[in-house]
Amino acid sequence: MFEVVIGLEVHVQLNTNSKLFCSCATSFGEEPNTNVCPTCLGLPGALPVLNKEAVHKAIMLGTALKSEINQKSIFNRKNYFYPDLPSGYQISQFEVPIV
Ligand SMILES: [Zn+2]
Repeated sequence: MFEVVIGLEVHVQLNTNSKLFCSCATSFGEEPNTNVCPTCLGLPGALPVLNKEAVHKAIMLGTALKSEINQKSIFNRKNYFYPDLPSGYQISQFEVPIV
């Protein structure tokens, strides 16, 4: 007997004024390379700062879905070498997510 377990990885666009890990605007229609900084370009030495508004929205979503809200949350930096990922890394959550 097998138990079917199906997982979903859902990607959504944030409706915040700034990006998740820097203060660059999320607005559209501006000149190319306008809303970028050393952090979102992945330049060496640039450290990410988590968007407080995004965390608040994640907690609101988790509450609406009657999910567990963790008091402590951990982000991981996963290093990749893909041609379409010039920074060479991706920041994600796996072990201790916000929700
Ligand atoms: Zn930025």
